[in-house]
Amino acid sequence: MLKHKRLKLDIELVPSSSWGLNLRNLLMPKMWKKLREEVVAKYNNRCAVCGKGGKLHAHEVWNYDDKNHIQKLKDIITLCTMCHATKHIGLAGIQASEKGSSYENLIKHFMKVNNCSREVFEKHLKSAFQKFEERSHYEWQIDLTTYRNRLK
Ligand SMILES: [Zn+2]
Repeated sequence: MLKHKRLKLDIELVPSSSWGLNLRNLLMPKMWKKLREEVVAKYNNRCAVCGKGGKLHAHEVWNYDDKNHIQKLKDIITLCTMCHATKHIGLAGIQASEKGSSYENLIKHFMKVNNCSREVFEKHLKSAFQKFEERSHYEWQIDLTTYRNRLK
């Protein structure tokens, strides 16, 4: 396992078996919009990871119970476009292969925010993909109890 400190910006790949099963898709658009506004206000219109302003995404943070295969919604945070794309670098990588340089920019962003080397990035990416492949073999039970009062 990696021995370095916890990364501020890490790569989170949602198992392919639970793609689409998220709060955003389960809420009425109006409810999601309201929730998004609350999250943005909570973080003072800044990215929760790097502190940058500008366009912000509401990002669902999941906790994975690899024994019981329960995927629990832990938190919703703001992310700037760069941090958001970096978190989902698997998907970004596919898009970047058409565009050329943007994948490199995400790696640079990761290294800057985490103040780490390229080697740390490569190791982290590899382990994120390993976890993703492993987790994609299972059907996940989605636990939204933290946000239960939002669901109608
Ligand atoms: Zn950011």
